[in-house]
Amino acid sequence: RKYLRHALIIGVTGIVGNSLAEILPLDDTPGGPWKVYGVARRPRPPWNADYPMEYIQCDITNAEETQSKLSTLTDLTNIFYVTWANCSTEEENCEINGQMLRNVLNAVIPNAPNLQHICLQTGRKHYIGPFEQWGDTNNVSHDPPFYEDLPRLENHNFYYTLEDIIFNEVVKREGLTWSVHRPGLIFGFSPYSMMNILSSLCVYAAICKYEGEPLRFPGTKEVWNSYNDASDADLIAEHQIWAAVDEYAKNEAFNISNGDVFKWKHLWKVLAEQFGVENGGFQEGENSISMLEMMKDKGPVWDEIVMKNELLATKLDQVGGWWFVDVVVNNDTRLDIMNKSKEHGFLGFRNSKSSLVSWIDKIKSCKLVP
Ligand code: NAD
Repeated sequence: RKYLRHALIIGVTGIVGNSLAEILPLDDTPGGPWKVYGVARRPRPPWNADYPMEYIQCDITNAEETQSKLSTLTDLTNIFYVTWANCSTEEENCEINGQMLRNVLNAVIPNAPNLQHICLQTGRKHYIGPFEQWGDTNNVSHDPPFYEDLPRLENHNFYYTLEDIIFNEVVKREGLTWSVHRPGLIFGFSPYSMMNILSSLCVYAAICKYEGEPLRFPGTKEVWNSYNDASDADLIAEHQIWAAVDEYAKNEAFNISNGDVFKWKHLWKVLAEQFGVENGGFQEGENSISMLEMMKDKGPVWDEIVMKNELLATKLDQVGGWWFVDVVVNNDTRLDIMNKSKEHGFLGFRNSKSSLVSWIDKIKSCKLVP
């Protein structure tokens, strides 16, 4: 088959990497036909085994391994960088994440003469600062809704490090362009994602159902009642593909969110219905409950659920990102705006409630939860 573009997805088993790997090879994807190479650290998992792509197991923190496995991909035209490392401090994040990106670019750029465009995925913490600084009074976040041209915050932020590495690289190669994509909370599918809110909530709901407990909202009253938004993983992939192909999207940073708002008190009802569990909602007068604390002894319960339902073999600490759920349900969401993408020609959107339901269906159909 003759391909028009050759894509390298770094982080192909992640929450957006998975969507890119599903969408890029389709016949009607803009800019295609696309040949797809996908990189991730672990061996190829069964749930993406039938995607039409070349899977490359490679640890990109390792410069030599990255050089030897990626320098041979001389036909590449596009990079989709959808990965990260979660270190204990933001300074470390800058160092390690910066090194990972440099390793990839050092292997690809000198060896892929037709490389045209690099999509970098960062996120809304660009405007808020890293998790470790949330709540810190010295960290003055921008006033939402966030738009792309706001100046950078003063603190360390590995998103800025990644952007700067790309800016420095593209000026050295004529014709090479970039785009930065900044989602908020992502709704998508990946059992290997470090931050997958829906998988974690599905596992929590399955445990509540199994134990005959109501599904209680573990967060604060403010978050329960306030406006939130999400970024559908397929929509983010479409946004990145648009930027990879469309002339009007080159060398720009863009927010990417669904374009609507929701309240957890409404989506919680939908989540409970999907699992046939009683909606415990937010308990008036009670403090929020830590998911990390609540789930710390549930490993054996999850093992039973997996066995009885013949699910994909997983351990609870793999499928439940409890620290991340705690972050999401205890911090009010600060919204972004999608004007810039629309003004540049991207009109994609998602209905967040339908997005939630369709990802739950996918998570169930891949036998991650019953
Ligand atoms: P993810 O955790 O879902 O996936 C990461 C992928 O990278 C996986 O395929 C993993 O195997 C791979 N990977 C990790 N370390 C690797 C290594 N050393 N070598 C090779 N592969 C490696 O990723 P994500 O959540 O899409 O995160 C990408 C960016 O998006 C991050 O900057 C993150 O902060 C941002 N973001 C994520 C969310 C969210 O809800 N998940 C929301 C907003 C922004």
